[in-house]
Amino acid sequence: MRLTGITAGYEDTTVLRGVDLTIPDNAVVALLGPNGAGKTTLLRVASGLLRPWSGTIELDGRDVTGQPSHALAAAGVCHVPEGRGVFPGLTVDENLRLQAPSRTAVAERVLPAFPRLGERLTQRAGSLSGGEQQMLALAHAYTGRHSAVLLDEVSMGLAPRIVDEIFEHLKVLAASGTSLLLVEQYVKRALELADYVYVLRRGQIEFAGEPWQLGTDAILSSYLGES
Ligand code: ATP
Repeated sequence: MRLTGITAGYEDTTVLRGVDLTIPDNAVVALLGPNGAGKTTLLRVASGLLRPWSGTIELDGRDVTGQPSHALAAAGVCHVPEGRGVFPGLTVDENLRLQAPSRTAVAERVLPAFPRLGERLTQRAGSLSGGEQQMLALAHAYTGRHSAVLLDEVSMGLAPRIVDEIFEHLKVLAASGTSLLLVEQYVKRALELADYVYVLRRGQIEFAGEPWQLGTDAILSSYLGES
């Protein structure tokens, strides 16, 4: 997936100012930056939830700029949004059926990876623990072969053991050749997994390169300081 020259925002607030970002095939890209830099907004543009004011979005070499989120989802973009991206009033099974193209996809891809969800299929998603709800949101990434999986702070607010489990899943996805765009507060862990890293500040890309090029912790924290 390739985003070129993206400007976007909300009503009269400009958030993204000419952002170029590429998620190469079979690669993990970490998107870092201080609060309010525009990371969530960029993911919303990439998944079609927010239409950019200018710029282009290419998926598998095809121009998909301006297509709505359901069209981009059908074309292979999977967005795991910030917060628990599940329907709390629906059962686990109903949530999985909304995410997955077929029952076979749930049975063959999702349930082997998330056996605990399999034990709770008839339970309402809202009655699951926070960690289980996040696993249910993450299960979306396992429902098929996606061209790009966009993950917005999926480890936020969870116990360390659950965070470990989430990163294990991200490693499995990466090893299976799924392209990931990762917005993460656990910067070091995200960088261990990442092939490329972008730093966004005030809506502009301030750094793009490989993780080792970011340099020392001091430089890294200066990148991540409040905007
Ligand atoms: P965080 O780490 O805090 O989630 P972020 O880098 O993901 O930050 P965004 O959530 O994309 O940043 O927000 C960028 C800017 O856009 C912020 O100034 C925010 O207040 C503003 N913003 C976000 N959503 C909306 C909205 N729906 N309407 C108006 N402004 C918004």
